[in-house]
Amino acid sequence: MASKTIFEQIRDGEIPARIVHETETTLAFLDAHPLARGHTLVVPKEPYEHLQDLPADLSADLFETVHELTPVIEEAVDADASTIGINNGEAAGQEVPHVHIHIIPRFEGDDSGP
Ligand code: 5GP
Repeated sequence: MASKTIFEQIRDGEIPARIVHETETTLAFLDAHPLARGHTLVVPKEPYEHLQDLPADLSADLFETVHELTPVIEEAVDADASTIGINNGEAAGQEVPHVHIHIIPRFEGDDSGP
């Protein structure tokens, strides 16, 4: 059996993380090396590597979570906006082979974008 991704280990409680939201199919937790206060990763609980590997219903769940969570995070850290992004594939900078959407709070005049 293939070894678990870091995000599966977080899902299974084997690596500590600050979980901020959970649904039946998705998990959201704070990034360990945040580019800004409140930098959050939203992942499917199952370890699909690329966005295009996700079944359509799971893709919808993932984006629904991002949709719900973005204003909550912005309010929690008093952000002015968010950068929301996916590094989809190694050449694009994807370090963890398990789809994840970055929600990076942004502040007027900051310099923390990707
Ligand atoms: P990527 O470059 O693949 O788009 O982003 C991977 C993200 O995962 C990085 O922002 C990195 O800080 C985060 N990350 C890597 N390992 C861990 C971990 O063990 N825990 C958490 N919470 N985040 C991690």
